[in-house]
Amino acid sequence: MLQCQWRSHYYILALKGTIKAGGRNGMIREILKLGDSRLYEISEEVTKDDTDMIREWVADLHDTLMDYRETYGAGRAVALPQIGVAKRLLYMYTDRPYVFINPAMEFPDDEKYELMDDCMSFPGLMVKVSRYKRAVIHYMDEEFKPRTMELEGDLSELLQHEYDHLDGILATMRAVDNKSLYMGQMKREL
Ligand SMILES: [Zn+2]
Repeated sequence: MLQCQWRSHYYILALKGTIKAGGRNGMIREILKLGDSRLYEISEEVTKDDTDMIREWVADLHDTLMDYRETYGAGRAVALPQIGVAKRLLYMYTDRPYVFINPAMEFPDDEKYELMDDCMSFPGLMVKVSRYKRAVIHYMDEEFKPRTMELEGDLSELLQHEYDHLDGILATMRAVDNKSLYMGQMKREL
């Protein structure tokens, strides 16, 4: 049976208040919006030459994500290309911060489900998409240590969404059909 969930409802309790970046000074960066050609580019691998930049990128992604949460009451993860840096790095803040460098995803089975997706690059627009229920993500952490995480349900679809940004794919391009885009009110009571 297909499930259809409004993702933001599930996150609202976790999003109360602003979580400060621990000891790092980041900047709230402009989030590229739907239609900006840079969102449709394929990003490059992060290399050892980027090591010095990673801390700065992560601090900026953190502050940008927290600012978005304060404004819209939603947002658990952000992709580096969304702030105009075409490198393969994702940042997620759930129970703690997670940095995914050069991630690769695989899907252990074909089971999919439908949900209402949203994106920091188009606040207020919801898109019905179909995602794999289960996924495995292989990546390197901030120290370039290889890691693997098994994902199910909302974390699985979240990281499929974020991974797509690295390949220049937006959720609008994954709409289940061309009538499955909806304008909604994103600002919610916290
Ligand atoms: Zn997005």
